[in-house]
Amino acid sequence: MRALTFLARRFVAGDDIDDAIEAVLELNADGLKATLDNLGEDSLDKAHALAAAEENLAMLRRIAESGADANISLKLTQLGLAFDEKLAEDSLLRIVAEAERLKNFVRIDMEGSRWTQKTLDLFYALHDKHPGVGIVLQSSLRRTEGDVREAVSRKARVRLCKGAYKEPASVAFPDKKDVDASYDRCAALLAKAPLPAIATHDDARIAAALKAFDAAGLVRSDYELQMLYGIRARRARELRALGHAVRIYVPYGTHWFPYFYRRVRERKENLLFVARNFFE
Ligand SMILES: Cc1cc2nc3c(=O)[nH]c(=O)nc-3n(C[C@H](O)[C@H](O)[C@H](O)COP(=O)(O)OP(=O)(O)OC[C@H]3O[C@@H](n4cnc5c(N)ncnc54)[C@H](O)[C@@H]3O)c2cc1C
Repeated sequence: MRALTFLARRFVAGDDIDDAIEAVLELNADGLKATLDNLGEDSLDKAHALAAAEENLAMLRRIAESGADANISLKLTQLGLAFDEKLAEDSLLRIVAEAERLKNFVRIDMEGSRWTQKTLDLFYALHDKHPGVGIVLQSSLRRTEGDVREAVSRKARVRLCKGAYKEPASVAFPDKKDVDASYDRCAALLAKAPLPAIATHDDARIAAALKAFDAAGLVRSDYELQMLYGIRARRARELRALGHAVRIYVPYGTHWFPYFYRRVRERKENLLFVARNFFE
C-alpha cells in the first residue's frame, strides 16, 4: 500500500489542502493557472457528502486567502448525487454562491455516462442565474456533439476532454480515432462558446483546436489549454511560453485510488511503471 501511495504522488499533489495550495503556488510561479480538486467520488451517505461540500467551501476560501490563481473542480457524486439529488443540488448551489462572492469559478467534472444527463440537468438549472459555474463534456460519448451544440447556444463554459471512464459501445466510440475526430469537431464548435477549455495532453488535438480558434478569430485570452498535474509538465510550460493560458488540474486528498487507477489505465507505460516499482 505504501508503494502505491508513493506512486500516486506523481498524479496527486498531497493529502490535504495545504499541500495542494503549495503545489498551486509553485505552478503559478511558472505562469500556470490551476483548478483544485478534492479527490473523492461516490459519497455513500449524507455525512460524507456534506463533508465534501464543506471541503469545497474551504478550498474557495483558502484560494482567496492565499492569492493563488486557481478555481475549483468537483464531482456531483461526491456531493451525494447517487442517493439524494436535492442534497447534491443544494450543496452545489452553496458552493457556487460562495465562488461568486469570492469572484471565483466552479467547474463540474463529468463522470461516467450514467450521470451525464443528471449532471447536465443540475448544471443548467444553475447556469442561467450563476455564470460562475461551468461543465465538462467528453468527446468519447456519441451524444457529446449534440451536447456541445446545446452548450454553445446556452453560452455555457465548457471544458472538453476525451473522457476517462470505461463505457459501452452503445454510448461511446470504441475506436480512438473516432474519439479524436469527435474531439476536433467539438473543439471547433466551442469557438463560439465563452472561454472554452481544451483539456488534453494530445498534441494533435491541441493543434487542431488552436487552428479552429484562430480561424474563428479568437485571441489567446479567449480560451484555455488544460492538463493534469504530473502529466506532460514540460509541454504545459512550453505552451505557456508560447503565450497560451494554461491551467493545471491539481487533485489532492486521501481518496486517490479511483483517480490514480484511471491515470494508470489510460496509458500502458504507467502500468509498467507501477508494476516495476511495486515489485522492486
Ligand atoms: C484538465 C483536465 C480535466 C479533466 N476532467 C475530466 C472530467 O471531468 N471527466 C473525464 O471523464 N475526464 C476528464 N479528464 C481526463 C480525460 O478525459 C482523459 O482521460 C485524459 O486527459 C487522457 O486523455 P488525453 O486527452 O490526454 O489523450 P490521450 O490520447 O489519452 O493521450 C495523449 C498523450 O498524452 C499523454 N498522456 C495521456 N494520459 C497520460 C497519463 N495518464 N500518463 C502519462 N501520459 C499521458 C501521452 O503522451 C499520450 O500519448 C480531464 C483531463 C484534463 C487534462
